[in-house]
Amino acid sequence: MKIPSKLQRGLAQFSILMLLAVVTWQVLHHTPFGSSDVYPYLSSLSPELVKQCALENRTSPTIVWEDLLAIRSTLPEKAAQPLIEQLKVHVPFSDLDWRSLPPNKRRVVQRHRQILTQYTYYQPKKYSFPVIGTTWFEDSFGADREGGARKHEGTDLFGKEGTPIVSICGGRVEQIGWNRLGGERVGIRGDDGNYYYYAHLQYISSLLVKGNRIEAGESVGTMGHTGDALTTPDHLHFGIELPNGQWINPYPFLAVWQYWGGESSS
Ligand SMILES: [Zn+2]
Repeated sequence: MKIPSKLQRGLAQFSILMLLAVVTWQVLHHTPFGSSDVYPYLSSLSPELVKQCALENRTSPTIVWEDLLAIRSTLPEKAAQPLIEQLKVHVPFSDLDWRSLPPNKRRVVQRHRQILTQYTYYQPKKYSFPVIGTTWFEDSFGADREGGARKHEGTDLFGKEGTPIVSICGGRVEQIGWNRLGGERVGIRGDDGNYYYYAHLQYISSLLVKGNRIEAGESVGTMGHTGDALTTPDHLHFGIELPNGQWINPYPFLAVWQYWGGESSS
């Protein structure tokens, strides 16, 4: 057997160290390769289904909520029911009898459950609803703006001028002040890595400093109609941009956060 030279050994050790560093970085940053299915799945969930599962969970509190939502959101009622019956008699998700389902369907349900557990957007009270007070909003993501020159990349939450606006999560203030479209706007880099955009504010909270931390529920400012909202009713434009630069539809997230927020005050 040929004994490797010192140089070869050194190179091998270096390669192993580099590999370990990459793997550690991936684990720490929760961005495993192939996570491109995460936000398409999360933003496809209907807020009504999320609420329905929360209510159902109340009558069967032993059922793990993510199990229920993953099954209900992936399978038609008829295919979901046998699995839910098992959950009701305390069969853990890992021990479910899947024989009634083709293996590929089963893998999709399992993947969805993994996403719901790892990305906690829909779990009760993990994120704050951004408007403190009366507001109304609908799903207008992708609607034409400026005569079709661009698409609407967020959700507009209408309300009275001066309504308090708070951060939906903990993070760091990345952008603050005026821009043409957003008017008085604040951009927060959430602890989850996403960029959260609050626009058309009447006033920005005087406590915010670029680069400083902000916690969920802390003041961002007040609702207004600055920037290109000058002639429109007062509203908060709220946007979510992923680290890859893609804006996703905030509507289902907002509808669920409002639901959980309402739960706490009742
Ligand atoms: Zn808008």
